[in-house]
Amino acid sequence: MPELPEVETVRRGLAPSMEGQVITQADVNRPDLRWPFPDNMADRLTGAKVTALRRRSKYVLADLDTGETLIIHLGMSGRMTVSGDPLGQFHHDHPAPEKHDHVVFHMGNGARITFNDPRRFGAMDLAATHALDNHWLINTIGPEPLGNTFNEDYLTARLAGKNTPIKTALLDQRIVAGLGNIYVCEVLHRARINPKRKAGGLSKPRVARIVPIVRDVLSEAIAAGGSSLRDYRQADGELGYFQHGFQAYDREGQPCQTPDCTGTIARIVQSGRSTFYCPKCQR
Ligand SMILES: [Zn+2]
Repeated sequence: MPELPEVETVRRGLAPSMEGQVITQADVNRPDLRWPFPDNMADRLTGAKVTALRRRSKYVLADLDTGETLIIHLGMSGRMTVSGDPLGQFHHDHPAPEKHDHVVFHMGNGARITFNDPRRFGAMDLAATHALDNHWLINTIGPEPLGNTFNEDYLTARLAGKNTPIKTALLDQRIVAGLGNIYVCEVLHRARINPKRKAGGLSKPRVARIVPIVRDVLSEAIAAGGSSLRDYRQADGELGYFQHGFQAYDREGQPCQTPDCTGTIARIVQSGRSTFYCPKCQR
């Protein structure tokens, strides 16, 4: 499942071909993905100019000059492909239509944006831009991890009194937006905090340490996504999936990479999700 850095990479990859461009045609090839599409979605998109492409948590948001915003979620297996933009960074020919091409945007500049999603856990919706924060997919999401609202005081207050493990608390989208299993494992490893520790029992300096590490881990991954984006000029134009080295995630049985630590990465299951951590240096 794409995490925040992958979604940000998709946004950055789409922006040159979509921002400032009119959607001249929208092909909506089925009535729904995870949920039904909004009424008359194709009509509401056709002729609309994309004024800005933003991201909130794991949603890509396309603001339109019609006063609406298109909300896009990639779900488990959704992918977006850019083709045929003569001026943008992608020079791929339009591919032959594929079975799971559920939505296709034809842009005024000749670019074609294809949303393909075999498992259909993705989503698209339209909402009034001014009321976007009230949208049901967005209105319970906590602050952006890379924004100023997510800071030491905020996190300390939100974790206070919580009996849930810190791993589970950081995965709670109401506390911080867009952090998924992979990056929470990485954050706690770098912060040397045991994922089983009670969130409310962490000392203030340890909570404070989490905030800049969250920013660093995500920023590094976004940077890796950026380099992968440059490679797409020669690749197939598909956005958002890139190789990135992890210190803890998916490294069960391998040596811990913390300097001077002789521990081995272990895997446990918390709230049904795999946690990878070093029992020796994560306390
Ligand atoms: Zn270690």
